Amino acid sequence: RDDDRISKIASSIRVIPNFPKPGVMFQDITTLLLEPKLFRDTIDMFVERYKDKGVTVVAGIEARGFIFGPPIALDIGAKFVPMRKPKKLPGEVISEEYSLEYGTDKMEMHVGAVQPGDRVLVIDDLIATGGTLCAAIKLLERVEAEVVECACLIELPELKGRERLGDKPLFVLIEAA
Ligand code: AMP
Repeated sequence: RDDDRISKIASSIRVIPNFPKPGVMFQDITTLLLEPKLFRDTIDMFVERYKDKGVTVVAGIEARGFIFGPPIALDIGAKFVPMRKPKKLPGEVISEEYSLEYGTDKMEMHVGAVQPGDRVLVIDDLIATGGTLCAAIKLLERVEAEVVECACLIELPELKGRERLGDKPLFVLIEAA
Protein backbone atom coordinates (compact mmCIF):
# COMPACT_ATOMS: atom_id res chain seq x y z
CA ARG A 1 0.00 0.00 0.00
CA ASP A 2 2.89 2.36 0.76
CA ASP A 3 4.43 1.40 -2.58
CA ASP A 4 1.18 2.21 -4.31
CA ARG A 5 0.99 5.62 -2.66
CA ILE A 6 4.65 6.34 -3.42
CA SER A 7 4.41 5.42 -7.09
CA LYS A 8 1.38 7.70 -7.53
CA ILE A 9 3.15 10.55 -5.75
CA ALA A 10 6.25 10.00 -7.91
CA SER A 11 4.20 10.08 -11.12
CA SER A 12 2.57 13.35 -10.10
CA ILE A 13 5.91 15.17 -9.89
CA ARG A 14 6.79 16.89 -13.15
CA VAL A 15 10.37 16.93 -14.42
CA ILE A 16 11.42 20.02 -16.37
CA PRO A 17 14.75 19.63 -18.18
CA ASN A 18 17.23 22.52 -18.28
CA PHE A 19 15.57 24.62 -15.57
CA PRO A 20 16.81 26.96 -14.14
CA LYS A 21 19.90 26.30 -16.25
CA PRO A 22 21.17 23.81 -18.84
CA GLY A 23 21.80 20.32 -17.55
CA VAL A 24 19.49 20.51 -14.52
CA MET A 25 16.50 18.16 -14.41
CA PHE A 26 14.18 20.24 -12.22
CA GLN A 27 11.82 18.21 -10.06
CA ASP A 28 8.65 20.31 -9.95
CA ILE A 29 6.47 19.38 -6.97
CA THR A 30 3.76 21.97 -7.81
CA THR A 31 1.99 19.36 -9.95
CA LEU A 32 1.69 17.11 -6.88
CA LEU A 33 -0.05 19.98 -5.05
CA LEU A 34 -2.76 20.01 -7.74
CA GLU A 35 -3.90 16.56 -6.57
CA PRO A 36 -5.27 16.91 -3.04
CA LYS A 37 -5.49 13.16 -2.42
CA LEU A 38 -1.80 12.69 -3.31
CA PHE A 39 -0.74 15.79 -1.37
CA ARG A 40 -2.65 14.35 1.63
CA ASP A 41 -0.96 10.94 1.14
CA THR A 42 2.45 12.64 1.06
CA ILE A 43 1.82 14.45 4.34
CA ASP A 44 0.37 11.28 5.90
CA MET A 45 3.44 9.24 5.03
CA PHE A 46 5.67 11.67 6.95
CA VAL A 47 3.17 11.97 9.81
CA GLU A 48 2.98 8.17 10.17
CA ARG A 49 6.77 8.07 10.45
CA TYR A 50 7.22 10.94 12.92
CA LYS A 51 4.08 11.05 15.10
CA ASP A 52 5.57 8.91 17.89
CA LYS A 53 9.20 10.04 17.69
CA GLY A 54 8.99 12.89 20.22
CA VAL A 55 9.60 15.56 17.56
CA THR A 56 9.04 19.03 19.05
CA VAL A 57 10.05 21.14 16.02
CA VAL A 58 9.57 20.78 12.28
CA ALA A 59 12.14 23.03 10.60
CA GLY A 60 11.16 23.82 7.01
CA ILE A 61 13.70 25.02 4.46
CA GLU A 62 12.74 27.90 2.17
CA ALA A 63 10.88 27.69 -0.10
CA ARG A 64 9.38 24.26 -0.65
CA GLY A 65 9.98 23.11 2.92
CA PHE A 66 7.35 25.77 3.75
CA ILE A 67 4.76 23.78 1.77
CA PHE A 68 5.31 20.37 3.33
CA GLY A 69 6.52 21.33 6.82
CA PRO A 70 3.47 23.10 8.31
CA PRO A 71 0.84 20.38 7.70
CA ILE A 72 3.25 17.78 9.16
CA ALA A 73 3.93 20.01 12.19
CA LEU A 74 0.19 20.50 12.83
CA ASP A 75 -0.54 16.78 12.57
CA ILE A 76 2.23 15.73 14.96
CA GLY A 77 1.70 18.65 17.36
CA ALA A 78 5.14 20.24 16.84
CA LYS A 79 6.28 23.83 16.36
CA PHE A 80 7.00 24.95 12.79
CA VAL A 81 10.19 26.97 12.34
CA PRO A 82 11.14 28.53 8.98
CA MET A 83 14.80 28.35 7.86
CA ARG A 84 15.09 31.29 5.49
CA LYS A 85 17.23 32.99 2.88
CA PRO A 86 19.16 36.03 4.17
CA LYS A 87 17.37 39.23 5.20
CA LYS A 88 13.86 37.76 5.21
CA LEU A 89 13.36 37.18 8.92
CA PRO A 90 12.56 40.38 10.86
CA GLY A 91 13.78 39.36 14.31
CA GLU A 92 17.25 38.60 15.62
CA VAL A 93 18.76 35.74 13.62
CA ILE A 94 21.66 33.34 13.62
CA SER A 95 23.02 32.45 10.21
CA GLU A 96 25.12 29.83 8.54
CA GLU A 97 26.97 30.24 5.26
CA TYR A 98 27.23 27.31 2.85
CA SER A 99 28.78 26.72 -0.54
CA LEU A 100 26.94 26.34 -3.83
CA GLU A 101 28.23 25.22 -7.20
CA TYR A 102 29.16 28.85 -7.84
CA GLY A 103 29.74 31.00 -4.75
CA THR A 104 28.00 30.83 -1.39
CA ASP A 105 24.58 31.26 0.16
CA LYS A 106 23.32 31.82 3.67
CA MET A 107 20.54 30.37 5.79
CA GLU A 108 18.95 32.18 8.72
CA MET A 109 16.80 31.21 11.70
CA HIS A 110 15.16 33.31 14.42
CA VAL A 111 16.96 33.31 17.75
CA GLY A 112 14.74 31.70 20.37
CA ALA A 113 12.51 29.79 17.94
CA VAL A 114 14.35 26.55 18.71
CA GLN A 115 15.38 25.81 22.30
CA PRO A 116 18.21 23.62 23.63
CA GLY A 117 16.90 20.05 23.79
CA ASP A 118 14.26 20.53 21.09
CA ARG A 119 13.95 17.43 18.90
CA VAL A 120 13.92 18.58 15.30
CA LEU A 121 12.76 17.13 12.00
CA VAL A 122 14.28 19.06 9.08
CA ILE A 123 12.15 19.05 5.93
CA ASP A 124 12.74 20.07 2.33
CA ASP A 125 11.37 18.93 -1.02
CA LEU A 126 14.64 17.54 -2.37
CA ILE A 127 18.23 16.63 -1.49
CA ALA A 128 20.83 17.07 -4.21
CA THR A 129 24.40 17.64 -2.89
CA GLY A 130 23.16 17.89 0.70
CA GLY A 131 24.73 21.33 1.26
CA THR A 132 21.41 22.95 2.16
CA LEU A 133 20.45 20.31 4.72
CA CYS A 134 23.98 20.42 6.21
CA ALA A 135 23.64 24.17 6.81
CA ALA A 136 20.28 23.62 8.50
CA ILE A 137 21.72 20.89 10.74
CA LYS A 138 24.63 23.15 11.74
CA LEU A 139 22.30 26.03 12.65
CA LEU A 140 20.11 23.76 14.75
CA GLU A 141 23.05 22.16 16.52
CA ARG A 142 24.52 25.59 17.31
CA VAL A 143 21.42 26.27 19.43
CA GLU A 144 21.84 22.83 21.06
CA ALA A 145 18.83 21.21 19.46
CA GLU A 146 18.88 17.54 18.50
CA VAL A 147 18.28 16.83 14.80
CA VAL A 148 16.30 13.59 14.85
CA GLU A 149 16.18 13.16 11.07
CA CYS A 150 16.09 14.99 7.75
CA ALA A 151 13.21 14.21 5.40
CA CYS A 152 12.68 15.00 1.72
CA LEU A 153 10.22 13.89 -0.91
CA ILE A 154 12.98 13.33 -3.44
CA GLU A 155 16.64 12.26 -3.35
CA LEU A 156 19.04 12.52 -6.28
CA PRO A 157 21.28 9.61 -5.16
CA GLU A 158 23.94 10.22 -7.79
CA LEU A 159 24.93 13.46 -6.05
CA LYS A 160 25.68 11.57 -2.81
CA GLY A 161 24.07 14.15 -0.53
CA ARG A 162 23.28 11.38 1.93
CA GLU A 163 27.02 10.82 2.51
CA ARG A 164 27.52 14.51 3.20
CA LEU A 165 25.01 14.26 6.06
CA GLY A 166 27.36 11.82 7.81
CA ASP A 167 25.56 9.93 10.56
CA LYS A 168 22.40 12.07 10.39
CA PRO A 169 19.56 9.88 9.17
CA LEU A 170 17.79 10.86 5.96
CA PHE A 171 14.33 9.63 4.99
CA VAL A 172 13.01 10.07 1.45
CA LEU A 173 9.93 8.86 -0.40
CA ILE A 174 11.36 8.86 -3.91
CA GLU A 175 14.76 8.34 -5.55
CA ALA A 176 15.06 10.17 -8.89
CA ALA A 177 17.64 9.71 -11.61
P1 AMP B 1 21.53 20.74 -2.31
O1 AMP B 1 21.89 21.76 -1.30
O2 AMP B 1 22.53 20.60 -3.41
O3 AMP B 1 21.16 19.40 -1.68
O4 AMP B 1 20.21 21.28 -3.06
C1 AMP B 1 18.95 21.14 -2.48
C2 AMP B 1 18.13 22.40 -2.62
O5 AMP B 1 18.12 22.87 -3.96
C3 AMP B 1 16.69 22.11 -2.24
O6 AMP B 1 16.16 23.22 -1.53
C4 AMP B 1 15.99 21.90 -3.58
O7 AMP B 1 14.68 22.44 -3.57
C5 AMP B 1 16.88 22.59 -4.60
N1 AMP B 1 17.18 21.73 -5.77
C6 AMP B 1 18.41 21.25 -6.13
N2 AMP B 1 18.37 20.51 -7.23
C7 AMP B 1 17.06 20.48 -7.60
C8 AMP B 1 16.33 19.84 -8.68
N3 AMP B 1 16.94 19.07 -9.59
N4 AMP B 1 14.99 20.02 -8.75
C9 AMP B 1 14.35 20.78 -7.82
N5 AMP B 1 14.97 21.40 -6.80
C10 AMP B 1 16.30 21.26 -6.67
